[in-house]
Amino acid sequence: MGKPERLVIAGAGIAGLTCSLALARTGRIPQVLDQAPNASEEGAGLQLGPNVTRYLQSLGLLEAILPIASRPQAIRIRQLRSHKTLSRMELGATFEKRYGNAPYLTLHRADLMASLLRANAALGIRPQWGTRVEHIRQTEREVQVRTQSGHVLRADGLIGADGIFSRCRLAVPNALANPPRPVGQIAFRGLIQDTGPLDPVLAREVTVWTRPGLHLVGYPIRAGKAYNLVALCPLSGDWKVASQGWSQPMPEALLQNFRAQTCGLVQELLTMASPWHAWAMQANQALAGPESMWLNRVFLMGDAAHPLRPHLAQGAGMGIEDAVCLSQALAVSLETPLQARFADAAKRRWTRNALVQKASERNGRLFQMRPPWVWGRDLALRLFGSRLMDQPWLYNPV
Ligand SMILES: Cc1cc2nc3c(=O)[nH]c(=O)nc-3n(C[C@H](O)[C@H](O)[C@H](O)COP(=O)(O)OP(=O)(O)OC[C@H]3O[C@@H](n4cnc5c(N)ncnc54)[C@H](O)[C@@H]3O)c2cc1C
Repeated sequence: MGKPERLVIAGAGIAGLTCSLALARTGRIPQVLDQAPNASEEGAGLQLGPNVTRYLQSLGLLEAILPIASRPQAIRIRQLRSHKTLSRMELGATFEKRYGNAPYLTLHRADLMASLLRANAALGIRPQWGTRVEHIRQTEREVQVRTQSGHVLRADGLIGADGIFSRCRLAVPNALANPPRPVGQIAFRGLIQDTGPLDPVLAREVTVWTRPGLHLVGYPIRAGKAYNLVALCPLSGDWKVASQGWSQPMPEALLQNFRAQTCGLVQELLTMASPWHAWAMQANQALAGPESMWLNRVFLMGDAAHPLRPHLAQGAGMGIEDAVCLSQALAVSLETPLQARFADAAKRRWTRNALVQKASERNGRLFQMRPPWVWGRDLALRLFGSRLMDQPWLYNPV
């Protein structure tokens, strides 16, 4: 038997930790580096469709997250000005059966991270916190990873899972040429910690409230004990939000401006949530080929490869799909060069990621559609709602 392959993963976020777990389950123990001083509790809600929970099940994670997640009964689209229902799609037993008995879940990012960290630790993987990747050099035989402290790690392959502001992108010119840029929208997120006073219908469903130029998404997390709200609207020149970081303070005037455009019930909801954090949204162009995800001994995944707009709720999901696909490609015989296995994974992933990038952008436009088109959209939603809202191309196994 040859020497075990040396793999380094930069980034212990959702994509990086899913990848290390999937690799460890096939007998490979990667070294995981993360720039953060320790595991972050930051973030708020995430939605995971059946395309993702199916993989969490195969990794043995689903059981651990089910008690701390919520299992919404439906996705409902409402008008932001009146709270009236435009359309509703059931997520219950029939939906789950249609998609291979994989549930639609909503949960707090920190809870998913904690489960991933525990599952990794059980297989002997503990991220090296406070270790920032600064520079990458590829040679024919290895990849050299220099960290902020000047230490150089040598490996057979580097998996760049270092998020939207990836350093690993520097080693993949096609990715570097397509960096994330501000998309002119701001997302602000707040949590309702006590769901006691919440309308029970809201507490059981994912709700999208729309009106021309802005929309709001809300759903239960933490087994219904908390409720997550994300509001999205254009970021005009008057509002300043730093472009990096998930927990920028929310400009109060912007929140007030948003609140003023909603109905009384939504105003109450917005008042119940705190603290509010702002995120100036960034995304890149849809991937144009497998070379956007890989070059020689470096493979990019998750937000490092394809930072997504949040309108299809698939940011974490695509990172998880990338991770599972890459671990499967790497499990092929060691006689196949690592570069070829990276290339194979990139070939399998880039079209799916590009499709989801485009669909996320389109969904954002649909949610914030203006007159006269919005009248046609609302009519279509009323007539064919649940059929239009279902996404078999997305939720079916790939
Ligand atoms: C703190 C935080 C909070 C978030 N909150 C939400 C949320 O509330 N809702 C939502 O939908 N999405 C949120 N996201 C984004 C969402 O988690 C991602 O879109 C998605 O999960 C993709 O995950 P990822 O692993 O590719 O990237 P990320 O989750 O961003 O993880 C990247 C990891 O890489 C590390 N890293 C970055 N640069 C380097 C470097 N040079 N060297 C080593 N390590 C590095 C980071 O510290 C981070 O741990 C958040 C991300 C972060 C980091």
